[in-house]
Amino acid sequence: MIVFDLGCANSHRFEGWFASSEDFERQVGRKLVACPLCGNADVARLPHASHIRTGGKERAVRAEAAAGKQQYANMGSEVLTRVVEHIIENTEDVGAAFPEEARKIHYNESAERRIRGTASHEEVDSLREEGIEVIALPIPAHRHGKTH
Ligand SMILES: [Zn+2]
Repeated sequence: MIVFDLGCANSHRFEGWFASSEDFERQVGRKLVACPLCGNADVARLPHASHIRTGGKERAVRAEAAAGKQQYANMGSEVLTRVVEHIIENTEDVGAAFPEEARKIHYNESAERRIRGTASHEEVDSLREEGIEVIALPIPAHRHGKTH
């Protein structure tokens, strides 16, 4: 099945389902397709038609919808992985010295730079209380560099 975006002579837009584009041409040629809003049979295919391959079964549509969701979920984690990779490439790993180093940078005792490392929840909380920006990220264990 193919779904076409259709328009009538009165600029109404609607969808039509056809077995193929030949089937669409044949039905329109015979004036078998009429606008559901005004009954006008002067119907034309609009650009940017969306094609849905269903295999003619509702089950196939559901399977495709589920596959689409899965793909979206995967894309989300891929984006997250890229963000994490970007941060890893653009920060200096100070490991367990992170809270101490973050404070030094914050109080201008150390050169300003982007750092990453490990910190406990308590340490993160107190850093935030001091006005130091800390972002928690799910960095994979194998990407943690050498710690001091
Ligand atoms: Zn119409």
